[in-house]
Amino acid sequence: MKTVKVLLTAVIVTIAYSTFIQSAEDNSNSTAKGETMKAEDPLRAKIQEKLRTTKGKVALTDAEWQLLLTPTQYYVCREKGTERAFTGDYYNSKKKGTYKCSACGAKLFSSDTKFDSGTGWPSFWRPANDAGVRTEEDSTLGVQRTEVLCSRCDSHLGHVFNDGPAPTHLRYCINSVSLELDEDKNSE
Ligand SMILES: [Zn+2]
Repeated sequence: MKTVKVLLTAVIVTIAYSTFIQSAEDNSNSTAKGETMKAEDPLRAKIQEKLRTTKGKVALTDAEWQLLLTPTQYYVCREKGTERAFTGDYYNSKKKGTYKCSACGAKLFSSDTKFDSGTGWPSFWRPANDAGVRTEEDSTLGVQRTEVLCSRCDSHLGHVFNDGPAPTHLRYCINSVSLELDEDKNSE
């Protein structure tokens, strides 16, 4: 009888101990995960929320843009960089939909005005609405060009030239990385 009691106690102690170890491990796992989430998500979510809820013009700090955008997006949109020709997602795309600003989500161009310019960058002969983009004279690289920017967030999009097709004869030469296609699923 005494042996049984000792055995039973040993079994109970073992079960209790292993349960304790298990729950301690669970706790440490969830804490670790929680901390990684905390390190990046709330700030980013707060900036995205600011973009979503701001009507009209948005102004974020460089640090906020850096947190929100990929390094390539930041280089092109905020530092006026240019992606290499024939490397972007959209230069060859024939998909229907609305091209939005990849930085702030504003509607910029419609696939209806996209044409194959052979330049290796997505090209449009007109913006979706004139107020959506604004232009600025650009004399960097020793050439006079007209820069195209997103009216809402001032992100660099590309340049506009006078050698496009009718009816406007304009060619909006835009970096793929500055765009995000909102695909029109009903058009096919
Ligand atoms: Zn924008």
